[in-house]
Amino acid sequence: MTARIKIWSSRNLSYTARMQLVNYVLLSLHMYWTQIYVLPKSVLQDIVKICRAFLWSGHAYSSKPSSIAWERICCDKQSGGLGFRDVLLWNIASIGKYVWALATKQDNVWIKWVTSVYLKDGEWWDYQPNNTASWYWKQVCSTKDKLKLVFTEAEFGAMSKYSVKQVYNKLAGNRPKVHWDRLVWNRLNTPKHRFISWLAIQSRLQTTAKMAKIGISSSASCLICGQKDEDHHHLFFDCSYNKECLDAMKAWLGINTTAVDLHQLYRSIKHGRHSKFRKQVYYAAIVALVYLIWRCRNTSLWDQLVPAVKVTVGTLKQTVKSRIQAILPKYVNKKDNSWFVSL
Ligand SMILES: [Zn+2]
Repeated sequence: MTARIKIWSSRNLSYTARMQLVNYVLLSLHMYWTQIYVLPKSVLQDIVKICRAFLWSGHAYSSKPSSIAWERICCDKQSGGLGFRDVLLWNIASIGKYVWALATKQDNVWIKWVTSVYLKDGEWWDYQPNNTASWYWKQVCSTKDKLKLVFTEAEFGAMSKYSVKQVYNKLAGNRPKVHWDRLVWNRLNTPKHRFISWLAIQSRLQTTAKMAKIGISSSASCLICGQKDEDHHHLFFDCSYNKECLDAMKAWLGINTTAVDLHQLYRSIKHGRHSKFRKQVYYAAIVALVYLIWRCRNTSLWDQLVPAVKVTVGTLKQTVKSRIQAILPKYVNKKDNSWFVSL
C-alpha cells in the first residue's frame, strides 16, 4: 500500500483525487476482510496513519497536522464527514460474524471445533477465554465484548442473517447531522471544488490568521487586500475583492439576497422558493466561488499575483456553465432550461 501511495505522491494530486484514492484503498481493504478475517490493531492503526498523511500531504509519511479529526472524516457526508469507513470499527463488525455464528449456533465445522475446544458447555455471551487460548480466539472474544456495548444478547441473536454493514452502522452510532451537506456534495458541483468548500464551511482552511496564531506565518493579513486579518469571516465574503466577486455572481444568476456570509447565503437559498435545479446551480456557483477565492489567495501567496475581479468572475461563469452542460440532469423543465441557456 505504501508503495502505491509513493507512486501517487509523485503526481501532485488535488485533494479531491486524494480523497477518492484513500476511499478506494479503504474500500478494497473491506473487500479483503469480508473474505478473510482478523487484522491486528497495530496494522489497522498504521493503515489509518498512512491514509491520513496521504490525504493531507500527498505523501505516505507526514507530520503535517490534519485540519479535521479522522473520526470526523469517517462520518457519513450528511454528518459532516467524507464518508470514509472507520477501519477499526469495520474490522470489529467483520469479526462479529463469528460472534454471531456462535450466538446463533450455526451448523459448521468451526463452531463445532471451538465449542469442543474452548466453550465446552459454557454460555457464549458471558464467556471469557483463559490466558492459554490462541490469539485468534481471544480476538473473537474481545470482539464479543465490544459488541455487547451496543447489542443485547437477544438483539444480536435475533438477526436471521449477519450483515457486516448493519452491525458497522450500529457500532458507529447516530451522529448529529449537519445542515450544509447539500451545498458541498451537490451533484452539479465541479468535483475539485468540493474539498475546499468542505473545509471552508467548517472554518478549517489554513488561513494566514490561523498560521500567524500558531507561529508559522509572521503576518495575519489578508493576502488579497492586505487590509484586515485573513480569517474565514474575512474571506467569505467580507474582503472587498471577494465581496465584489460575490455581487457579480449574484447579479449573474439573479440571486436576491442580502446574505453576506457563506452560511447565511446557503441558508437563504435552501429556504428560498427556487426550483431544485436552480438551487443546484446556485450551490455549484457558490462552491466554485469559494474555490476560486482560495485559489486567488494562493496565487497571491506564491506568485504575488491577484487576477482582476473581472477575470475571476469570468472563470467562475465558464467553469460552472461547462460543468453543468456536461451533466445536465433530465428533470430540468423548459423554463429552467432556457434560463440556464441564457446565462
Ligand atoms: Zn481581504
